[in-house]
Amino acid sequence: MSADQNLTKDQSNPAVDGKELIRFDKVTKRFGSNVVLDELDFSVNSGKHVTLIGPSGSGKTTILRLLMTLLKPEEGTIRVGGKYLTHEERNGKLVKAGEKHIREVRKNIGMVFQQFNLFPNMSALRNITEAPVSVLGLPKDEAEERARELLDMVGLGDKTDAYPTQLSGGQQQRVAIARALAMRPQVLLLDEVTSALDPELVAGVLDVLRDIAHTTDITMLCVTHEMGFARDISDQVLMFDSGRVIESGTAEKMFNEPEHERTREFLSAVL
Ligand code: ADP
Repeated sequence: MSADQNLTKDQSNPAVDGKELIRFDKVTKRFGSNVVLDELDFSVNSGKHVTLIGPSGSGKTTILRLLMTLLKPEEGTIRVGGKYLTHEERNGKLVKAGEKHIREVRKNIGMVFQQFNLFPNMSALRNITEAPVSVLGLPKDEAEERARELLDMVGLGDKTDAYPTQLSGGQQQRVAIARALAMRPQVLLLDEVTSALDPELVAGVLDVLRDIAHTTDITMLCVTHEMGFARDISDQVLMFDSGRVIESGTAEKMFNEPEHERTREFLSAVL
């Protein structure tokens, strides 16, 4: 499996490694009286792979959904690539973002969900070309050429014409990964992408993601229960508890020498 040319690591690219791509400032998200994120601050630098860990209900998925603008925060600001996701500047003032602004910023973000969410009435190839053609306005043949490269990259070069029902769950998830990458996002959000899969299909999907992490420049923000995978790909691991980051560090530090009692408890329960 070879990485797509256009995604290949480019060490000379100044946008990669070091520049802040995602920033949450004092983000609060509530559902009724349930405070899910409590004045959360965190940032992710370009090209980094960051994994969110923590007990169920600690707010990890909510963070990804906020970035996809599927949810809006009650308070605080979120920036992607220096642009506000939640707000936009008008006449020098920061006002709530309109739909057009949100769509523009969101073009930089790709997400893969637990349930693959492929369009059932479209072939693997069409699933991948749909958004680049309709949203980015890419010519159809260009979109198809890129979709074929991406299907090769996820090990499904022979499945261009297959419909979702003709593919295993693992294959569908690999198409969903290719579909997210086809939009050339700066950041890929991965929300427990293997948790709906039969155990024997998990490794194939994780291998594809490892390959992408190790051979491309894409920034990854990942929620997973696969701790071996998290250890392999993460530059940084953030431990969440009750909507706050209680500890963060390199994968080596977090898995080998966690400092916080809650992190130790959590890891001993899942490892
Ligand atoms: P995690 O991903 O860490 O398991 P989530 O972000 O999914 O946690 O959920 C955090 C909390 O927010 C949970 O208490 C959950 O019940 C609540 N929650 C998430 N989505 C909604 C929603 N759409 N409506 C009401 N409560 C929600």
